[in-house]
Amino acid sequence: LKHIGVLTSGGDAPGMNAAIRSVVRTCTHHGIEVTGFYEGYQGVIDDNAETLDARAVAHIINRGGTMLRSARCAEFRTREGRQKAYDNLKKRGIEGLVVIGGDGSFTGASLLSDEFDIPVIGIPGTIDNDIYGTDFTIGFDTALNTVVDAVDRIRDTATSHNRLFFIEVMGRDSGFIALNAGIAVGATNILIPEESTELDEVITKLKTGRENGKTSSIVLVAEGEKMGDALFMAEETKKHLPDYDIRVSVLGHMQRGGNPTCADRVLATRLGVAAVEQLMAGHSSVMCGVRNGSVCTVSIHDAISRKPGIDRNLMHIAEIVSL
Ligand code: ATP
Repeated sequence: LKHIGVLTSGGDAPGMNAAIRSVVRTCTHHGIEVTGFYEGYQGVIDDNAETLDARAVAHIINRGGTMLRSARCAEFRTREGRQKAYDNLKKRGIEGLVVIGGDGSFTGASLLSDEFDIPVIGIPGTIDNDIYGTDFTIGFDTALNTVVDAVDRIRDTATSHNRLFFIEVMGRDSGFIALNAGIAVGATNILIPEESTELDEVITKLKTGRENGKTSSIVLVAEGEKMGDALFMAEETKKHLPDYDIRVSVLGHMQRGGNPTCADRVLATRLGVAAVEQLMAGHSSVMCGVRNGSVCTVSIHDAISRKPGIDRNLMHIAEIVSL
């Protein structure tokens, strides 16, 4: 293996830079040339790229976002688009591609590899943790800590004013962020798409809490919650609890930014090394992940076709402690 490509695609996540750095430095260690493509698959189609050496990735391990930038590229969804991308990879003499991104990015990578016989390796980078085959995705831990920090601040004002806060967090169709952060901030209710909750249950819990002396409450709502968003939930609750001082906070894109946590930097570094080693071993169409503390691989096909399950035990724990 003499030359590989690397790109970041889909939604950005803190720790993507650490993964790029790890891929580049592992290649340098093994005498492999690396080309970094800008703005995901768009950069491959446009041949917007440059050679990355060890120094090109200096001072980025601590930075959020991605130095290669990310994009959503409609053209890559077409066979013609992927043909252009493949032609550019071939022209540069690239023998394998590392794709850092989410399941959409892996679907594109898988198609490219199947159609044109170029090896691809996936590294899961998304704050949502919604990828099958890995216990953690890069960016999840940082996003959790950002949410916990933000909600702690809201709690200060919630307790001072006896308020009920509905706080909406990211996660797409998954409730990983809401469930884990919800436990960490001591939320009264955690509403996630994996669990069907009725409004009645939420209201009963809030009432019981007040009867038991609770003066303020935090309800964490995952953006994919099927009952509705935080604003809707707050409006519906107000109809049943008119004397409650209810506020809504949607945390939004702040959850995607910030310096990656130690856990995300270490994870990204481990997966970057693993991805290059997979290419060197002649493997393709696998995603590198981490399971029970060890680096593992899973077929890209499984990573994109299966859904990771929410930890029911965590739901149970949240229930026990949110009296
Ligand atoms: P995140 O979960 O953080 O949003 P993602 O990788 O799932 O990340 P997407 O926007 O779904 O984000 O995908 C990123 C890019 O991957 C798309 O813009 C497109 O270029 C490519 N892609 C996604 N789905 C496909 C597909 N079905 N076929 C080919 N390419 C695809």
